[in-house]
Amino acid sequence: MTRPTTILVTGARDWPDPHQVAQALNRAAEQATGEVRLLVGDATGADAHARAWAERHGVAVEVFEARWSQMPAEGKPRRAAGPARNRAIVDRLDQADGARLVVAFHDDLDGRSRGTRHCAGEARRRGYPVALHTSTSRVVLPPRSGHPGRARELRAAALDYAARGIPVVPLHTPLLRPVPGRDQAVVAVGCSCADPVCDRPGKHPRTRLVARGVANATSEPERIAGWWHRAPQANIGLATGHVVDVLDADGPDGVAALRAFAVEHGWTPQGPLVRTGRGWHLYLRPSGTGPRNPIHPELLAHVDWRGKGAYAIAPPSRHANGAYTWIRGLDVPLEAAPAALLGLLRPRQAERTLAPSRPVAPGHPYGQAALDAECAELAAMPPDSGRNRRLFDAGLRLYSLVAGGVLDETQVDRDLLTAAERCGLLATEAKATRLTLASARRIGMAHPRGVPERSAPTPAQQPPATRDHAAADRGRPRVRPGPERR
Ligand SMILES: [Zn+2]
Repeated sequence: MTRPTTILVTGARDWPDPHQVAQALNRAAEQATGEVRLLVGDATGADAHARAWAERHGVAVEVFEARWSQMPAEGKPRRAAGPARNRAIVDRLDQADGARLVVAFHDDLDGRSRGTRHCAGEARRRGYPVALHTSTSRVVLPPRSGHPGRARELRAAALDYAARGIPVVPLHTPLLRPVPGRDQAVVAVGCSCADPVCDRPGKHPRTRLVARGVANATSEPERIAGWWHRAPQANIGLATGHVVDVLDADGPDGVAALRAFAVEHGWTPQGPLVRTGRGWHLYLRPSGTGPRNPIHPELLAHVDWRGKGAYAIAPPSRHANGAYTWIRGLDVPLEAAPAALLGLLRPRQAERTLAPSRPVAPGHPYGQAALDAECAELAAMPPDSGRNRRLFDAGLRLYSLVAGGVLDETQVDRDLLTAAERCGLLATEAKATRLTLASARRIGMAHPRGVPERSAPTPAQQPPATRDHAAADRGRPRVRPGPERR
C-alpha cells in the first residue's frame, strides 16, 4: 500500500548551497512509497532551494508566507518570519496523511536564525524528529515530546476542568511512530499503551493509574496532580453526565448529518465547542442518559452522545492529526440539547419532541395551571380507566417543567401523590404507583422544559398523548410508561 509523504523544510535565509538541499530531498523522495508533498516558507536561502527542487521534480509544494507585516507591530525583528507562521506550517504537517518528515538546514541552530530554531523546536515538541543538515554534517534531533511546557499545559488544563466540577481521567497519549525502513520519517500513530495494534491511540484510560477507567474519574485536585505527575503527557478525559454531556460528530459524515439535523430543527448550537481530529464535540447540559449512546445511524449517522458513564477527550489533548482545540470555551453557557435530539437517543423509550420554550422562575402561572389541571384530572379518574398510564404522562410532563425551573419539585411530588391517593390508585397499587412516579420523574427530569414561546393550549384542553407531530408540537411528551400495568 502506498501512502503520501509530506516533508516540511525549514532553514536559514542565507543558506548558500542548493545542491545539499536537493540531495537531502532526493534521499527523502527516494524512500517515499507514494506521492511526495513539500511544506515550505516563502523566504530566500534554504526555502528557495527547496521550492526550486520541487519545481524541477514536479513535486506539489505548499508555500507558507511569512507574517512580515505583523512582526514590527509585535516588536520582533523585521526579518523574522514569525512564530505564527511556524505554528501554521507545523499544523499543516500534523494534518497530513501518511509519512511525515522534517528537514532543517542550518549551521548554527542555537544561534542566529530564530526562525529555523523556532520552527524545528515546534516540530520536535509535537513529536517529530528533525533531520538537521549543517554545511558539514547531518544529525537527527530527537522529538521533545516530554517538553515541560507541554506537561504544565496539560496538568493546568486538567485542574481547571476539575475546578469547574468536571471529573477528570488520565488517558494514553498518541505517539508518532517511525516508518520502518524510512530515514527519520514518522507516521501517525502509535499509542503510549505500547500495544502495537492499539486501535484507539491516545483515546483510552491509563489503567495503570485508573484501574476502573472512567469510573475512577475525580475532580479532586491532589489526585489529578498526582496522575499528571506520573504521566505528564497524559491526554485528558472528561467524565460526562455530571456537569456536561458531549455530542460527538465524527468525520465529514457526522458533521454533515448534525448540520442537516440542526437546520431541519431550527437549532443553532451556541454552547462550548471543540474541534477534534475529524469533527466536533458540542458540550451540552447533562441529559441524564448514558453511558454512550450511538444515535441510530439511520437517524443521525456518525453522531455519538456521551452521557453518564462515558467520557470525552478534551483540549489540549493530542490526537493523531494535531490537538483538540476549543472553538468556544467552557465559559460559554451550556445549552440543553433540543428535545428532538434527545428523542433520537431513545427512539423506543422516548420518542418525543417539545415545543420551543423559555425558562421562567418556579411558581409561573403556566406551571401552576399545568399542575392543577393534571392532578385534578387524575384525581377524578375511576378504577380501570388507565389511571397508571395517566399518572405516568402527568408525571413526565410536570417533572420536565420542574427540570426547566417552572415548577417546584417537592410540590409536584406531593400533589401527584395526593392525586394518586384521591383516585384510589395509591391504596390499591401502592408499589406500582411509586414505581411509575419514579420512572416519570427520572425521564421528565432529564428533559427540561420551560414555558412555550407561543401561546399554548392549557393542559386540560390537550388531547391524550399520540404519536403524531401535532401533539408533539403542543408540548406533550410521547413516551411509553415505565412499569406497565396489566
Ligand atoms: Zn493504546
